[in-house]
Amino acid sequence: MFTKHVSKELSAYCQGELGSDDSRRVAEHILGCRRCRKDLEEIKLGIQFAERITHAPAPASLWREIESLLDQQSIPQRRLSRRRSWVSWRNAGLAAAAVIVTVIVVVSWYAIHSQDAPWEVVRLAGNPTINSDRIGDEGSLGVGEWLNTDASSRAQVKVANIGEVEVEPNSRLRLVKTQINEHRVELARGSMQARIWAPPKLFFVNTPSAVAVDHGCAYTLDVDDAGATMLHVTMGWVALVLGGRESMVPTGGRCDTRPEIGPGTPYFDDASEALKKALAKLDFEAGAEEALSIVLAQSRPLDTLTLWHLLPRLTRPQRERVYDRMVLLIAPPAGVTREGVINLDETMLDIWREQLKPVWQRDDPAIWKKLLGSVGN
Ligand SMILES: [Zn+2]
Repeated sequence: MFTKHVSKELSAYCQGELGSDDSRRVAEHILGCRRCRKDLEEIKLGIQFAERITHAPAPASLWREIESLLDQQSIPQRRLSRRRSWVSWRNAGLAAAAVIVTVIVVVSWYAIHSQDAPWEVVRLAGNPTINSDRIGDEGSLGVGEWLNTDASSRAQVKVANIGEVEVEPNSRLRLVKTQINEHRVELARGSMQARIWAPPKLFFVNTPSAVAVDHGCAYTLDVDDAGATMLHVTMGWVALVLGGRESMVPTGGRCDTRPEIGPGTPYFDDASEALKKALAKLDFEAGAEEALSIVLAQSRPLDTLTLWHLLPRLTRPQRERVYDRMVLLIAPPAGVTREGVINLDETMLDIWREQLKPVWQRDDPAIWKKLLGSVGN
């Protein structure tokens, strides 16, 4: 499946220099390729390191050297000729230092000024407001400001240079932070659709019951008045996290959250209604043995997404039931044992998830056939 690695394109991808088709192709490859994901992490570390450098001020002594160099350049040439070799050597060194300082200053200026720059807002319908002022056809949303839509208003918000968000009626959205390595909004209530073409983990949405972490994708978020959130992913992957709980949701997947509890278990749009109902019970209500039986009985191979996420959230006897059902749907890869999974061995769970990802992403029918064909019954 991963015939061509994308390592060479990762730097351009991180800087937002790829076209949207290439950016999408790279993002999709990264999701399924451990090697390129590792390369991406290294490049992102490099970017963070470079950022730290830009914040270090140039030492005052270096400035004095440069000033004296500039003074010397105004001295008549004949006075310099006697010590030409020394001067030209020294000048070359100082000129190089000046270039370095100039680069640092320019990059610092860019880093400082690209931080917290307001986002463009376009009115799509009705009368959206920013901090209770109507915006007309266009407006700008600064850090800390609230964008509000009433029952007949909609607005589009440009997420710096990495994507866009459509804010639906009856919504409240605040810009929390916008910096080169983190763009964050808060959706207090209502609905938004996000389309993000940045590398993973640059765009975050705080909701009352979880944080949505973008992994290169398109999705919608709905927050009701009680603070419950519903995530629906239309392309790529999104993680919902709160405390130690994390739910990874692929294309076609959904995940619900509740205040005080956090993210529930991800499931697919086309899972059976009985499964969805029983899963909500299992996630958010107590005493759910019967609900678990329904989820297990209703699971298709695709629903191993749900079963895999359930493992660490259940009791040991319940995990045994989940494991026994999962291996009937798709045989586990070599090195993954019943004992290990039931003891929540992290490496084994990771290996199994990596094997299942192509199934959850519905990547390739051949992979389906191979995995399903490996099942004994
Ligand atoms: Zn790769």
